[in-house]
This record gives sequence, structure tokens and C-alpha cells, in this order.
Amino acid sequence: MKTIGLIGGMSWESTAEYYRLLNEFTRDRLGGLHSARCVIWSVDFAEIEQLQVQGRWAEAGEVLAAAARSLEAAGADLVLICTNTMHKVADVVGAAVSIPLLHLADATADAVRASGLRRVGLLGTAFTMEQDFYRDRLAAAGLEVRVPDADGRALVHQVIYEELCLGIVRDESRTGYRRVIDGLVAAGAEGIILGCTEIELLIGTKDSPVPLFPTARLHAGAAVDAALAGPRNDTPAPRRPHPVDRSVSTLPV
Ligand code: GLU
Repeated sequence: MKTIGLIGGMSWESTAEYYRLLNEFTRDRLGGLHSARCVIWSVDFAEIEQLQVQGRWAEAGEVLAAAARSLEAAGADLVLICTNTMHKVADVVGAAVSIPLLHLADATADAVRASGLRRVGLLGTAFTMEQDFYRDRLAAAGLEVRVPDADGRALVHQVIYEELCLGIVRDESRTGYRRVIDGLVAAGAEGIILGCTEIELLIGTKDSPVPLFPTARLHAGAAVDAALAGPRNDTPAPRRPHPVDRSVSTLPV
């Protein structure tokens, strides 16, 4: 099993979800007590959010590139950026390491294409919905991407930063998101990409008349696929007595 490196903390609410999903998927695939080999580098999101707001993307890229280097040094075999938005600096992060970066938009586009859909609505931060870095990647994969109108984008963005990244999940916000989703479907969306890793904490299949593509779940699934594919690169774990063997325990008995 390969070791998955996570650049997390953006926000930690969704990074915790990644950690749970990686372990669940690994257990489902391998059974028993198996769990994911992983290393998490978790940033202080307040610092990153300030860099976003001030448009200081190069500095944010350097912070995440340093995180990726730390993960590689810690033994990671592949690296994930656990946020859609910060894929704006994915090229800088990927260039900083010699291990592969598993791009979130690629994992998402693969899932959409596998479902047979092409025309999708995209929910995410204003950066993700309005700038090119993410939409272009989806378009290059053959998808036609629609985003909400200005009011819808403002609502989706505000709920992400003022609620979901703080662990606040409100019914009123779910109702607002449902309205935005309905608008995208009326405009022709055949599926909805939850293109912010916290949105799946608020919205589930019952909230949408069309299929949803939850990006944290899809990214974690692709990471486990990659970690379990190909030759095993792990050294065998040393044989150790089970902890109940008190003759080798360092704990007082
Ligand atoms: N986790 C979010 C995303 O997937 C938003 C937080 C951020 O700005 O990174 O885009």
C-alpha cells in the first residue's frame, strides 16, 4: 500500500472527512483491520484565507509547496491538495515534489464522465466558480460547465466561509443551496459538482433532482485506488508481539 500525503486544513472540517473516507475505503477494499497509510500536513486556514482574499496566490502556492515537500520527506508516495480552490496553485505544488499530485478536478471529471453525463453545474467558492483554473480543467476533460448566477454564487461562497468551514450546518443554508441547484438544473445541468470539499457536509442526494459529484469523496476514492494499485512499495512491518504480551510491555502492569 502506498502512503497518501494530504495537504489539509482548508478547512479542517473537510480534512477530517478525507481522513475518515480514506480509512473507510481502505477497510472496504482490504477488509479486517486495514486502514490507510497516510500523512497529513494541516495548515492554519486563517493565514491561507487572508492570502486568497488579498490575491497573494504566489505566496499561498509557496506555503502549500513547502507542505508538499514535507509530506514527501515524511514518506508520502502521492500528494493531494484537500481543497478545490487551492488547485489554483496546483502546478506550483506539483512542481515542488517528485511524487505525483492527484488533481481533484481530474478525479471529479473522471467520475462525471464515467456516469455518462457531460453538462454539469459547479458549486464552490467564488474563486472556483468564477476563475478559469478549475473550469478549464473540467472543460479540457470534455465537460460543459455551468455556474449559478451572481446571487447564487454569493450565497454559495458565503455559506462556505461563514458556516461550513466553521462546522456550522444550517437548514436555511441547505434550502438556499437547493434553490441554486434547481436553478442550475433548469439551465440544463445534468449533474452537480459539489466543487468545494465542505459542501458535502451540507448537501446530499436527497437535496438534488440530478446526480451529485461530491469532490472530497471522489478525491479520497481516487487516492485509495492509487494507493492500492501497482506494486507494493512498503517494507514489511517488523514482527512485534501483540501488546497483551506483558513481557515486552513498557507500561506498568
Ligand atoms: N475547501 C474548500 C474548497 O474545496 C474551500 C476552502 C478553501 O478556500 O480552500 O474549495
